[in-house]
This record gives sequence, C-alpha cells and structure tokens, in this order.
Amino acid sequence: MTEEALRRHWGFDSFKSLQREAVEATLAGRDCLMVLPTGGGKSLCYQLPAAMGRGLVLVVSPLIALMDDQVAAAREAGLAADALHSNLAADHRGEAYRRLAAGKTDLLYVSPERLLVGDLLEDAASRLILIAVDEAHCVSHWGHEFRPEYRRLAEVLERFPKAGRMALTATATPAVQEDVCAQLGLRDPARFIGHPDRPNLVYRAFPRREQAAQVLEVVRRHPGEGGIVYAQTRKDVERLAAGLAGAGISCAAYHAGLPADLRRRAQDDFVNERLDVVVATIAFGMGIDRSNVRYVVHANTPRSVEHYQQESGRAGRDGGQADCVLLFAASDLAAHRGLALKDGPLTPERQRTLERQLREIGRYAVAPVCRHQLLSEHFGAKYPPRSEPPPRGGSGQGCAACDVCLGETKSLSTEEALLTAKKVLSGAWRAGGRFGTGYVVNLLLGRGDERMDRNGHACLQVFGLLKESGETAVRSWIDQLIVQGFLEVFEEREYPLLRITEAGKALCRDEGTVRLGVPAPPKAHGRKKPKALKARLSSDLPPDEELFERLRRLRRLISEKLGIPPYVVFHDSALVEMAALKPTTLDALAGVKGVGDRKLERYGAAFLEVISGKPPESAASHST
Ligand code: ADP
Ligand code: MG
Ligand code: ZN
Repeated sequence: MTEEALRRHWGFDSFKSLQREAVEATLAGRDCLMVLPTGGGKSLCYQLPAAMGRGLVLVVSPLIALMDDQVAAAREAGLAADALHSNLAADHRGEAYRRLAAGKTDLLYVSPERLLVGDLLEDAASRLILIAVDEAHCVSHWGHEFRPEYRRLAEVLERFPKAGRMALTATATPAVQEDVCAQLGLRDPARFIGHPDRPNLVYRAFPRREQAAQVLEVVRRHPGEGGIVYAQTRKDVERLAAGLAGAGISCAAYHAGLPADLRRRAQDDFVNERLDVVVATIAFGMGIDRSNVRYVVHANTPRSVEHYQQESGRAGRDGGQADCVLLFAASDLAAHRGLALKDGPLTPERQRTLERQLREIGRYAVAPVCRHQLLSEHFGAKYPPRSEPPPRGGSGQGCAACDVCLGETKSLSTEEALLTAKKVLSGAWRAGGRFGTGYVVNLLLGRGDERMDRNGHACLQVFGLLKESGETAVRSWIDQLIVQGFLEVFEEREYPLLRITEAGKALCRDEGTVRLGVPAPPKAHGRKKPKALKARLSSDLPPDEELFERLRRLRRLISEKLGIPPYVVFHDSALVEMAALKPTTLDALAGVKGVGDRKLERYGAAFLEVISGKPPESAASHST
C-alpha cells in the first residue's frame, strides 16, 4: 500500500532509511520523533500519509520562504496541498480557505504565527489526522535556533487530541530531543534517530593562504553548477563577490546590509538557477531549498560545529556528490570571540560555551583526522555507521570522501609530529610572548629583518629551524598547536601576541602527545569532474553529458513557464538517469527514479522529444 503510493506519487521504488517505519507508526496512530540529517527525506514521512487520502495533514514550519516551493513540489506529486502564511496574496488565501472548508485539502502548511491565531481549524478539525512540526529543534532553548512562538504550539496541539503528532529535525543532541518531546507533548513517541553522517558530501578543511584565490579554485572546479560561499563580514562578502564576478563567474552578494529587494532577487535567481554562486554571510540559507547545490565554501571559519553542519548541509540535498570546503585561520576564532564580546561581557556559562564551541570547530578544521568521523562523533554517533557497508567502496582507506582520507592532508607520524611541534614551540618560547604569529613564523623560517636583528633573534638556534617546511606548513602548525592547547593567542594593547602554554612547555619535555597534519601543496587536489553526473546512478551506463545539458535546458524552460523552481520539475538525479538510460517510451521513462504518474503525464512527452534529439525550445512548448 505505502509502496504503491511512493511509486505512483513520487516515482521512487524504495524507502530511504527509517521512512517506512515512520509512515507505518504514524498510520498506526503513534506520535513520532524523527531526527534525520538534511536530505534524509523527512518530508515524505508526513506527505505520504496525506497522499493516502485518509484526511488532513497539517505541517507547521517556520520557513515561510520555503512554503510556496514545498506546496508546488507536493502538487507536482499529485497532492492537494496549500499553504497559509502572512506573505500570501489575498486571492490565493481565499482559495486556500475555501478548499480547506470544503474538505478538499490533504496537506496544509502553516506558519506558527498563523496557527496560534486560533480559528483556522474549526471546519477541518474532524478531518485532521496528523500535525507535523518541522524544524522542531526551534522549540528548545538548548537548540541553536530557539523561537518563542514555537513554545506555544503545545496549546494548539492540545486542542486536537485525536490527531497524531510528528516532530522533525535534522540536528538534535539527546538533550534537545528530550526537550522537543516534552515541549510538544508527544505521547510515548516512537523515536526514529538516523545517523548524522552525509555520505555524499566530500569534506575538506585547509589552512587559509590566499582567500580569494582558494575560493576561486573551488568555484572553477564546478563550472555552471550551484554553490554558496560563506564569509564572515559584509566587507569580506563584497570583496569576494567582486573578485568572482571579475573572474567571469555568475554570482551575487548577499548580506543583511543590502536592500531587501536585492536580497530577494539574489535568492530567487539562485533557487531558479539563473545564478550559480551566492557569496553570503550566514544571513543566507534558512530559506534555501535548491536541491542541487554542488558545493559550499567557508571562506572563514564558522562559529561552531553545529553552524558548520547546518551551513555545509545545504549542499547535495538531492543525494548527489557535493563538496564542502572550509578555509581555516586561527584569527577567525579570535574574531568570533571579539564579536561575541561586542555587547559587553558574557556570563560565565556563555563564556564557557563559546570557548568550547570555538575549540571544537578549530579542532575539526585542523586535526588530521577523518572529517566524517569527527562530525559524526560530535553528534554522538559512531563512524562508520555500523550495519552499513563501508561508504563508497574504494580501497578501504577511511571514508574516501574527505581531505584526510583522500591523502590531500597528510598526518605526520607520532615521532615526526612531536619533533616538529617541539621546533615550533621552541620558536614561540624564545620569542617570549612579546610578538605576534607573523614574527614567530619569520623567526622559524629564518627571514631576518632589522627588528629581528635588534632583538638579537637572528642569531638564535631557532632562527631558520623550519626553513625547509615553508610558510604554509609553519602557519598551519601554529594553528594546530593553538587548537590543541600548546600555544595561545592573547591580546595586549589590542595587539594579538603568541605564547607557549604550560601544556606546550610540558610537551617540550616529551610529556604529552600531539597530532600534526600537513596540507598537500595546492593544486594537487581535484580537477573538474562532472559532479552532478556522478550523482548516484541506478544504472551502470555513463550518462551522456551533452544530453544532460539539453535536458537541464528543457527543465529550465518548463520551470520558467510554470513559475516553479527547476528542482520541483525534476531533480538532477532524474535527469542524469534519463541521460544514461535514454528511454524512448513513456513506460520506460516511468522507470526513472523521481518520475511519478503526474510528472509523467505533464512532462513525459517533452522529455522524450529532447531525448530523441529535438531542441529543448520546441519540446518545452509541448509540456502542460
Ligand atoms: P529533509 O527534509 O530531510 O532534508 P527532503 O524531504 O527535502 O529531506 O528530501 C530530500 C531529498 O530526498 C528530496 O530530493 C526527495 O525528493 C528525496 N527523497 C525522499 N524520499 C526518497 C526516496 N524514498 N527515494 C529517493 N529519493 C527520496
Ligand atoms: Mg525538510
Ligand atoms: Zn575521511
């Protein structure tokens, strides 16, 4: 039954992990808590019960900007879906109310504000089978996006004791999970907690040398594909966007200082694939559902691992391979600290949390340890996930999807690491905590100048001790030693100085252990590969790249004609499969993953025409 609905409405032939269990529990009347990573397929868990025609499913979501696209996508799957929120045009709202009152709606998205007004469900109460609360971590003080209006949802839920309840979120520590269940009054809920790992994301973290050049290098690996570049400040954003535009990249800047209409346009253009790259502060992203974002670059270090997981998680929602690159510098952590203190001193508890978060993200960025493993462990899960085959086959070296396991960042042997660390530390020790990082780097590299002569440092034994290693490696080792607590940066008269810690001194006496990595020289990693085409294929045939581009063009034309985002018409993965299998009949086309009955009927003929060689422009006019 549920399989049949999955096939007919969405064109999928099997459930993703935990989807079937959640749907069955819901249909059996149980409350559910679902924690599945981004792209895990949470929406289907409440949409499928709606598709089975048993009554009304209500979805509460704080992301108003996404609702219209979600409604469009649900309608494409053949569901009677509507949304009610404050941005809706009056005539659309009127129609939505009429359909609701007439008992014609299967799936209704509402904002929490709208729901709290109260009157909404009087007519529909008897048909209500399920209330799904998306982004449920917003109900918890302990989460990172607490929303006061979510706290009051429990009152509304209580008015409908017969309806089932489902809370969904992508990230929740065990404490947040408990809080969500309690705050939303879930009654003995079935808990479906997925593994937090995103196997299709390739994580890389490198020391930052030249921000603009390193960003451009990643962007150039993905010509014509969607990507997001996050930077820390508005100025960084403007500068990087100008640099990319100057290099001929289709891109826009996005930050809170820009006029609302410019921001809206950047977002619209990005979602509708008229724009490849958005360079943004973290103000960008909450409302982005473009499923084929192929890379996310952090030009600065994010504030916490939670932030990183969420921001990088916007890549590869369609399950296809995507790149996540973080450019790290220890000075970013100091900048975050400065920002947090801008409005006065922190409470001791906030202070401790801040320091822990900065330590964790620093460790993620510089420890020469598998990044999938570090992220999984951060969210309390073992890596690799048990009971699943080792990720992406390969020759068995770790995840094969991060810079460490791919050999782009080498880790030094224990002895080498200790020896190197002692050299770096002795440089800092001799400098006596009176100089900044740059000075210590020059000292270790043997780059003398007048000042160094004057201080008598040019004739020290440490002078030029790491000459052979080069500046990139020495700077990175200093960062790595800071993150591991052997060095620290402190401020004196607004000037950041570097000094050795007690732990650092102990290490110089061979007490303690240290891990150090060295990034491979730039350029060694990753040439351009057609990433989208490597999206998980159900066939072994290689996709025809030229055909893929023409199918993409057709999808764009249809999406413009209908005023819906391209990914709502078909995901990249469906186009990739078409470009590989080249079906010639509607029946064969129906076998492609992601082609449900309704899409087959509306777009099937047009896509077959393009596959048979017709130009997208003429085929588009045959879609309905
Ligand atoms: P989440 O809300 O958990 O981030 P979504 O509900 O947006 O995830 O789904 C992510 C992607 O997975 C969507 O592109 C969706 O079409 C796809 N998807 C969902 N369920 C399945 C399935 N059973 N088989 C294949 N793809 C699926
Ligand atoms: Mg979702
Ligand atoms: Zn790895």
